[in-house]
Amino acid sequence: MEKPIQINIKSHLINKFAQAGINLTPQSLKLILDVEDPIQKGKKIIEKSSTIPEFSSHITLDILQKIDDEEIHSLLKDYHENHPELIKRDSNPDISSEIEGLEQLVEEQIAKELEIQSGSEKTPNEKNVSKTDTEDILSNRKEKRSERIKKNNSEPIEVLKKKKKSKVKENIPPKTEKKLLRGSQNSVFSMNAIAKDYDTDLKILRDPTGQIWTSGDYEDFYDLMTDKFNKLKNLMKKRPGASAATNIINLKRLNEDTDVTVMGLIDGIRQTKNGHYFMTLEDTTGKMNVLIKKYIEPPEFKKTAEGLINDQMILIKGLYRPGEKGKRGIIFAEEVYKIDIPMSYEFSLSEDPLSVALLSDLHVGSREFEEKLWDRFIDFLHGRFGSKKEKEIAGRIKYIIINGDLVDGIGVYPNQENDLVISDIYKQYEKVASLLSDIPEYIKIIYSPGNHEPVRNAIPRPAIDKKYTKDLLDLGVECVGNPCLIQTHNVKSLVYHGDSLLDLNLLVPGLENNRPEKTMKELLICRHLAPIYGKKTQIAPTSKDWLVVDEIPAIFHCGHIHINGLGEHRGVQLVNSGCFQAQTDFMKSFGIQPTPGIVPVVELDTLTPYSIKLK
Ligand code: FE
Ligand code: ZN
Repeated sequence: MEKPIQINIKSHLINKFAQAGINLTPQSLKLILDVEDPIQKGKKIIEKSSTIPEFSSHITLDILQKIDDEEIHSLLKDYHENHPELIKRDSNPDISSEIEGLEQLVEEQIAKELEIQSGSEKTPNEKNVSKTDTEDILSNRKEKRSERIKKNNSEPIEVLKKKKKSKVKENIPPKTEKKLLRGSQNSVFSMNAIAKDYDTDLKILRDPTGQIWTSGDYEDFYDLMTDKFNKLKNLMKKRPGASAATNIINLKRLNEDTDVTVMGLIDGIRQTKNGHYFMTLEDTTGKMNVLIKKYIEPPEFKKTAEGLINDQMILIKGLYRPGEKGKRGIIFAEEVYKIDIPMSYEFSLSEDPLSVALLSDLHVGSREFEEKLWDRFIDFLHGRFGSKKEKEIAGRIKYIIINGDLVDGIGVYPNQENDLVISDIYKQYEKVASLLSDIPEYIKIIYSPGNHEPVRNAIPRPAIDKKYTKDLLDLGVECVGNPCLIQTHNVKSLVYHGDSLLDLNLLVPGLENNRPEKTMKELLICRHLAPIYGKKTQIAPTSKDWLVVDEIPAIFHCGHIHINGLGEHRGVQLVNSGCFQAQTDFMKSFGIQPTPGIVPVVELDTLTPYSIKLK
């Protein structure tokens, strides 16, 4: 049994690391708790780890080894000598030696397949004579496979009831509001603001606020990974053909070549020297080697294989070959799938002709906040700016979602004070309140925090504390956490600041900062908002995984990249809302050319998107 004091130290440590945006493996946490003064040592590790080049916000025993500290080194030495199982569990198994033998195995497999292909030109009789059992399996599998692929890509998978769009309501009596705290400019409308005639219909379907503090036990890490695995597995199971999947432990009992289906999280993927993809797939029962040949067909499988990253849930169908003489077996993948969303999902839509405007990254308080563009946005909302069509669009806006980085914050990055015109966080919120008070009062504002807000950096984040948002609450602003799932007039929007987008753009070929909607599509395909664990994205060790996309939204809204982008994936409207901030030196260093002043507006009855250009 642990003493309560130990639990307090643990909880304190985990919070300290989480606040610094650093994840710890359970083994590293154990080691830190074993030192004489864990709190002091924790501080030192937070400080020193950032100077290690290969450190990516994830403390492992390997990283601790690189920290110059005698006490840590002597504990590590003790672990090596007396607890080798800890060391082994902490890092990925070294598979480099296995890869050597693999190239040969792949060539053998290819030769076998080629033999069978040329065999198919022979008469049926000749074929039968020369075939072994294994070859039998191999020759049948091509036909079976193409049938399966056809089936897997067919639809529908999950079908939801679709709310039929009704006729636009006419002559609805205008609604009177009790409080008139907002919209001092309401009297000067030069358009017909039909949104005025409808009541707000907002539901917060999922909000991490108040539910994401860790118990302080390092078991939270296990719980998080287990929860992620189970949730993603349940989503994958809905794919046609996935019900045949077997646990990895069952494969190990096979002693002849067998067609198999398995699903699991990728635990280490690399390309062999000939360009094939070799990985370890893990489920709750064990690990399995999988090889995807570089010329896997059809091309969509090749594309999927190229974009695979660690910690991702995939489904593999292929041929399992048991290892000879005590060696581990391997699956030669023939089909590879990510979870994705069903092709014919029907979204519930609004019955009323209303819209939502999607904003993020105003960075109020920053020298580069473009207040002129904001003023123009206010003019647009009031019908004082834009074409006839744009005025009509403005008149339908019933909701505004602000998806993070509303303020620039303080102490977010070194020397930030040089870039601030308002260097007091409370004053930044005062300014925000005055900016938002110009929004017509019939428009409901929803505010969810990003990485610049005064809240922890690791996702998921709770709503901003009332001590900052009192004025906003008085204006009727709904403050929620991030990510969150909200429903406005029947339409579900997944609101996620987008912290992981930069990581993914670096890792996955074909993804780039200039096309944020493509990266967002990839998140939907993975059904996870931060599919890779332990890069720059800071993920808090909560016991539940809030980042799994288990409900399919009609609108998927991100920000963070400061580049506007619209896209669509299987009916989901993808929106990156750009920003209201000019290029900062920090962005310049990333080569990001922001697109301030482009406001996306999406119709809730049709999901039609518009870009309002304020410049
Ligand atoms: Fe931002
Ligand atoms: Zn951001």
